[in-house]
Amino acid sequence: TRAFNFSAGPAALPEVVLRQAQEEMLEWHGAGASIVEMSHRGPEFMAVAAEAEADLRQLLDIPDDYAVLFLPGGATTQQALIPMNFASAGQRADYVLTGHWGKTAVKQATPYVSVNVAASSEAEAFRDLPDRAGWQLSPDAAYVHITANETIHGVEFRDIPDTGGVPLVADFSSSIASEPLDVRRYGVIYAGAQKNLGPVGIAVVIIRRDLLQRDGQPRADIFDYRSHAARDSMLNTPPTWNWYLAGLVFKWMLAEGGVVEFARRNAAKAALVYAAIDASGGFYRNEVAPSARSRMNIPFFLPSAELDARFVAEAKAAGLLALKGHKAVGGIRASLYNAMPVAGAEALVAFMADFQQRHG
Ligand code: PLP
Repeated sequence: TRAFNFSAGPAALPEVVLRQAQEEMLEWHGAGASIVEMSHRGPEFMAVAAEAEADLRQLLDIPDDYAVLFLPGGATTQQALIPMNFASAGQRADYVLTGHWGKTAVKQATPYVSVNVAASSEAEAFRDLPDRAGWQLSPDAAYVHITANETIHGVEFRDIPDTGGVPLVADFSSSIASEPLDVRRYGVIYAGAQKNLGPVGIAVVIIRRDLLQRDGQPRADIFDYRSHAARDSMLNTPPTWNWYLAGLVFKWMLAEGGVVEFARRNAAKAALVYAAIDASGGFYRNEVAPSARSRMNIPFFLPSAELDARFVAEAKAAGLLALKGHKAVGGIRASLYNAMPVAGAEALVAFMADFQQRHG
């Protein structure tokens, strides 16, 4: 009865993970209580937490000189904490804008740093990455911030920009663990969990440890990454249920073959959908430059807003959920995270062909 769910986030979770969570909901591993009813400082949850971190380290090949934090809240919170922790008051920080989420990062950072928009493709409606030759990076910037994958605009970096030794901070909310990642090239990687990693309510932050020595700005302990790192993300009560579920997702990803296998599946899914769009003779239209097309989120348009709406409604009736585009861009959006099987992309493509035949 489970449909193919193309939601951009909170997004589909693997069915086996949900089943396991359901099985363990009342009683976790013979403990007489659910994991969500136990102290975060007890041996049971401490083991779950440590295992999740170890599995994520294995999955993403995270070196020891990087801290891995599991923090309550989402990616937006990190967008404010990053300048507080890694820049002194009024220091410059470079931001490269490739879509909506880069702009929210700037908005969150503005009270704390002097934001330099080093490059932006906003004038082109975020349909491409800004030309690398035109980036105005500041050599004295505290960091350079990019959005690895823009969830709404469907634009993805396919290589890692060279920032001349300035730490690269990347929002990987919608593409983390979708393919191998060279963590060593980044100062900070952060992601809200609700697309590829698990349920909403927890964020993963991967920080090169030397950056934790930066003074940053006056801030409460609870906003201090160094304090969170020193206390293994248990400075206060962490979102234990979310952490546990993310841990199950990590185990599932490892069992399925890890990020190499997901890179293969994700490339196959995206290729299917883009091929269907490109072969439709203009009935379906993706406006992103081919070299910047996202593998995770594919926005596209039909010839009219009326047809867009009809497509979404008929798709839903056919068991293809949550295909409505984000209100900022309209149209359709198909999100193809790790938990979406290749069969889901095949079903979407078959529906697209059928819909075009009936309405084209
Ligand atoms: N960054 C990206 C790339 C996102 O896709 C999102 C949410 O969809 C966010 C940031 C904001 O995340 P949150 O809602 O977890 O704060």
